Amino acid sequence: MVVDVDGNSLIDFGSGIAVTTVGNSNPRVVAAVAEQVAAFTHTCFMVTPYDGYLRVAERLNAITPGDHEKRTVLFNSGAEAVENAVKIARAHTGRQAVVVFDHAYHGRTNLTMAMTAKNMPYKHGFGPFAGEVYRAPLSYPFRDGGLDGAAAAARAIDTIDKQVGATNTAAVVIEPIQGEGGFVVPAPGFLAAMAAWCRDHGVVFVADEVQTGVARTGALFACEHEEVMPDLIVTAKGLAGGMPLSAVTGRAEVMDAPHTGGLGGTYGGNPVACAAALAVLDAVEEDGLVERARAIEATMVPRLRALQQGDARVGDVRGRGAMIAVELVRPGTTEPDAALTAQVAAAAHAEGLIVLTCGTWGNVLRFLPPLSIPDHLLDEGLDILERIFRATR
Ligand code: PMP
Repeated sequence: MVVDVDGNSLIDFGSGIAVTTVGNSNPRVVAAVAEQVAAFTHTCFMVTPYDGYLRVAERLNAITPGDHEKRTVLFNSGAEAVENAVKIARAHTGRQAVVVFDHAYHGRTNLTMAMTAKNMPYKHGFGPFAGEVYRAPLSYPFRDGGLDGAAAAARAIDTIDKQVGATNTAAVVIEPIQGEGGFVVPAPGFLAAMAAWCRDHGVVFVADEVQTGVARTGALFACEHEEVMPDLIVTAKGLAGGMPLSAVTGRAEVMDAPHTGGLGGTYGGNPVACAAALAVLDAVEEDGLVERARAIEATMVPRLRALQQGDARVGDVRGRGAMIAVELVRPGTTEPDAALTAQVAAAAHAEGLIVLTCGTWGNVLRFLPPLSIPDHLLDEGLDILERIFRATR
C-alpha cells in the first residue's frame, strides 16, 4: 500500500516502475542499508574497493543465464548501464553500429535517447542524437498479424543485413519483454533466432533486463523463458529495492575488452546500494519470489482474459509473471485507444489503485505489483479494475 499526504491508501500495481519488487521498506533491505550506512557510505570503488561490490558482482555472475566465466560492472541507473554495455560491445568487436528495435526504451541519456524509439516525450527537442544506432522491426504478435518468431526474426535480420551489415554491427540490444514500449512479448523463437544470428556473426547480444530482471517475470531473468543466453545482460530497477544501482554482467572475454580505467564513475556500485542489492537477492531466493511472480500471473491473467471476453475494448492481454498488461483498442479493430487508457488509469487512481500506462500509442495499461503483495490486495486491485471497465462502458 502507498499512503498519500492526505492519508489515502492506494494499492500499488506500479512498484515505482518495477523497482520495489521485494516491497517497499522490505525488512531485510532496511536492516542491510542501516548497517551499511553506519559502517561507511562511500569510498569510490575505483579508489578503495570494498567487498559489497564484489559480492554483488559474484552473485550476478552466478545467477545470470549460462555457466560460462562472467564479469560484472556496476553503475547507478539503467541508462548508464545500457550505455556501458554498448561501450563494452564496441571495444570487444572493434565495430560501431548498434541495432535496437521498434518501440524500444533504453533510457534518456544522449546515447540511450537515440536507442529509444518514441519521440514524445522522450526525445522531442533534445537532439542531435548519437550516431550509429539503427532500428529493426520487432516481433509484436498483436500487431504483426501473428507473424511467428522465426519469420519476425528473418524480417529483422533482413533489415540489419540491408541497412547496417553484420560486419559493422557491434551489438544487438533488446528488451526480452518490452517495458515502456507496451509490455510486448515477442513470438516464441524470436529472441533465440536473433541471439543465434548474433553468435554466427560475432555480434554481441545484449539483453536489456532493466525492467524484466530479478524475478519480475516469473524467472530470475526474462531471457530464461526463451532459453536465451545473452552475451551481456543489463539489470537495474528491481536489483536494489529502490537504491540506485545498475549492472552489466556478461562473458568474461567481452567484458574484459575495454582498457583499464575505461569504465567507471564516482558512485557506481555505491556500498549502500550494494548492501540493498544483496538483501534483495536474499529475499528473492529465501522468500520464493520467482514462484510468487508466477502465482501473481496465475491470478491476474485469467481474470483479465475474462474481462477481455466481455469487453471488446480489451484487445490483448499479455505479459509474464508480475509484468502483465492489457492493450486497449476501439472494439473490433487494433486501433489504439489512448483516451480510454488514460481514463481508466485516472479512475483507478481515484479508486485507490496505482496503475501505469505505456506503449508507443499510450494505449497499454501495465501492472507491476510488488512480488510481496498479499493475495487479498491483488484481488482487490483487480476488482477495482473490473468495476472501472464496467463503469466506463
Ligand atoms: N531500459 C529499460 C528496459 C527500462 O525500462 C528503463 C527504465 N524505464 C531503462 C532502460 C532506463 O533506466 P533508468 O531510468 O534507471 O535510467
